[in-house]
Amino acid sequence: MFENILLAVDGSDHSSKAAKLAGDLARLSGGKLRVVTVYEKVPSYLGEPNLSQTIAKRTAKAEEILDKATKEIGEIPGDCEPEILSGDPAETILNVVDIYNINLIIMGTRGQGGIKSLLLGSQSHKVVSTAPCPVMLVR
Ligand code: ATP
Ligand code: MG
Repeated sequence: MFENILLAVDGSDHSSKAAKLAGDLARLSGGKLRVVTVYEKVPSYLGEPNLSQTIAKRTAKAEEILDKATKEIGEIPGDCEPEILSGDPAETILNVVDIYNINLIIMGTRGQGGIKSLLLGSQSHKVVSTAPCPVMLVR
């Protein structure tokens, strides 16, 4: 049913729970699982070498987030394709959804930032408000 699943991770506790559930669902459905983490775009006015250094730092952090998620997902049938992208998280997630014909998005209700009392973070709110497919929010 869900052939193309997208998991969005930011390294938070909620995103860890989403990763575990995405692994379970991929094992159950046999669907292909893509994993994406998005870092904030680095403004070019920073100039060199600051630009390259900042990108390298953010990429290293993103790699850690993906490594953690890959462990949490566990063994799944087929390849898992983790991807690091830059930009606005929700917009980037929605672009990936279009490009890869995603039919289920899995993400946390909240993430690294935000106010704990809020039910949804701004990225999960934006995705669930505009996604063209079902969204599973994990808490
Ligand atoms: P806010 O960012 O509005 O301050 P928050 O951090 O608590 O609040 P969100 O950012 O909406 O909440 O995070 C909800 C979920 O969205 C996370 O658990 C994760 O699954 C996903 N997510 C958030 N940021 C990113 C990101 N940069 N890349 C990929 N997924 C993300
Ligand atoms: Mg956030």
